[in-house]
Amino acid sequence: METTVEAVRGRERLRVVEGDLTREAVDAIVNAANPSLLGGGGVDGAIHRAAGPELLAECRTLGGCQTGEARITRGYRLPARHVIHTVGPVWRGGERGEDGLLAACYRNSLALAKEHGLKTIAFPSISTGVYGFPMDRAARIAVRECRAFLTREPGFEEVRLVCFGAAALAVHQEALREVRRDSGAG
Ligand code: ADP
Repeated sequence: METTVEAVRGRERLRVVEGDLTREAVDAIVNAANPSLLGGGGVDGAIHRAAGPELLAECRTLGGCQTGEARITRGYRLPARHVIHTVGPVWRGGERGEDGLLAACYRNSLALAKEHGLKTIAFPSISTGVYGFPMDRAARIAVRECRAFLTREPGFEEVRLVCFGAAALAVHQEALREVRRDSGAG
């Protein structure tokens, strides 16, 4: 499996990898959920299938989640200890606040992880499936938010961006290069 590692503050803490999010053994995986939190297709369906019915039962107690916000549950049968559910924006052309809402998904998920004392987290490419957000644009937002968080939080160990397939991996590697270049980090 190909991996790109980027050092943030001297330690390798931001990783772009190709893989299946449901197999990641981290403190929390992030679910690209819908506002009901009651399951759906894509990565959401895969997470619920792998976690088992207890996950849906806990989600039912949460009363949903608005776009850009995040909620935490246990991970049940997943290798990950927790699932952080966040609701990405549906792409409507880019002028309905989609960028800001997607950035909020990453920021609020990371803040929730920190609040619960977690140290490792893995994200899918939120909103880039059924919700139609262009992946290159989404990947830049993801990389920017994760880098900013790691810079602020030297105690956080690792953020992984898990790409589903080789094409998604290439898009995220390019985003990592671009964000690094734009920030003057070489
Ligand atoms: P959204 O509704 O937020 O667009 P989707 O689940 O439809 O959510 O897609 C989000 C991204 O997750 C897509 O890029 C899709 O290819 C990817 N994806 C789907 N299944 C998995 C998986 N098992 N692991 C990692 N990423 C996945």
